[in-house]
Amino acid sequence: MAAKQTYIIGGGIIGLSIALYLQSEGRNVTIIERDEPGGACSRGNAGMFAFNEIFPLAHWSTLLRAPSMLFDANSPLSLRWSYLPKLAPWLTRFIFACRPTSFHAGSAALAALNAQAQQDYDPLIERAKAHDLIIRNGFLTVCATERGLRREQQLIGKLAQHGLSAEILNAQETRQLEPALSADIKGAAYFPEGRNTSDPFALAQRFAARFSADGGEIIRAEVSGLTKDGDREWIIETTGGHHQSSEVVIAAGAWSRAVLRMTSTDAPLDTERGYHLMLPSPDIEITRPMTFQERNFIATPMNDGLRLAGTVEFGGLDAPPNYQRAEILHKLATRYLPGIRSSGATRWMGFRPTLPDFKPAIGRLHANPSVFYAFGHQHLGLTQAGVTGRIIADLVMGRDPAIDLAPFDLDRFN
Ligand SMILES: Cc1cc2nc3c(=O)[nH]c(=O)nc-3n(C[C@H](O)[C@H](O)[C@H](O)COP(=O)(O)OP(=O)(O)OC[C@H]3O[C@@H](n4cnc5c(N)ncnc54)[C@H](O)[C@@H]3O)c2cc1C
Repeated sequence: MAAKQTYIIGGGIIGLSIALYLQSEGRNVTIIERDEPGGACSRGNAGMFAFNEIFPLAHWSTLLRAPSMLFDANSPLSLRWSYLPKLAPWLTRFIFACRPTSFHAGSAALAALNAQAQQDYDPLIERAKAHDLIIRNGFLTVCATERGLRREQQLIGKLAQHGLSAEILNAQETRQLEPALSADIKGAAYFPEGRNTSDPFALAQRFAARFSADGGEIIRAEVSGLTKDGDREWIIETTGGHHQSSEVVIAAGAWSRAVLRMTSTDAPLDTERGYHLMLPSPDIEITRPMTFQERNFIATPMNDGLRLAGTVEFGGLDAPPNYQRAEILHKLATRYLPGIRSSGATRWMGFRPTLPDFKPAIGRLHANPSVFYAFGHQHLGLTQAGVTGRIIADLVMGRDPAIDLAPFDLDRFN
């Protein structure tokens, strides 16, 4: 009997991870990707497997800080004001998601997802022979102020309640780990178990290469329509012709809403645009990713230089990048890493797929059970790719994914 066929729309790190998992189930898998696999948001991220990030950004403290941040050109948050009317429905839902009950339920859901994220990544890294791209050297959250350090101390206490361990280092201990740090820093939170990739794009490409080598097909085309042929098959219309499949997975990152709408379903998905500045010759050396507590962005040592990455800009999918958001990262980093140089720097922008409660959407459509979805991974798509792939494979194969999927069901927005 011929293997059953699954089509995945979108070949970012999420689509690729689903593809590898389904392939190992003996499924015949095709990815439809309009650009290079892994070439969109999955390309330029900060490379952290942030299994410890379990607190949704939808929190009242974010709400309180947002207005002042919006009027500070150096802050990690910005908004294209012309986009505000379009963003308003998302913002309204976001405000509701900041309620303590939603926040606590969201934390529990993300903690459950992240608890499985590492073990579900390992088989993919093994299969793609990508061990050389994985660094296990911990993370730091570096604090330039006593206030920042106190915040980290509190956070560590809350993480401990979820079984996640981290410790506070004083300034001297921090600088022993990373001598390039300024003598003025106050200390850091240290996550000794932290892992990162030295090249997220190379990791995605490794996944794509393994998938193709094992017989998977990647079609370079844009999906423009999804229609049901009677009760069973989906007709997938693309810029390169059409395809027929009994089941479809939507993993199109920040563009998933447009694809989902082709099935007459909607989701309040928007995008947080993020930037990076890649420094090929930073003139300093760090040996592990560090988040700058007061500035909320990350410096990660990568194969081809030091990457400064982060910031959130609300402005939709169509506005051109504002690369000043990337340039500013170098100036802000000098407070922590004096001597960091930006000569030859390159800039990048990516579209994080973000739902207003800062939880991903992972599941299958109730109205159309042959449509599966996996998008909205916001700041954690690299981190949660393995577990998402495993869950979707379980759902497609009719197995219990051993995790409560209600918090990730799109029905939560109805
Ligand atoms: C600055 C920055 C730093 C980050 N740092 C981290 C980090 O350290 N750790 C972490 O876990 N996460 C991080 N993230 C988030 C992470 O990068 C994303 O969550 C993740 O890449 C999303 O993956 P994806 O596969 O859903 O989307 P994408 O990588 O965007 O892939 C979606 C794909 O779908 C394709 N597509 C869309 N529509 C169609 C269509 N109609 N037809 C065909 N193809 C289509 C697109 O071309 C694209 O390739 C960061 C993000 C940014 C911006």
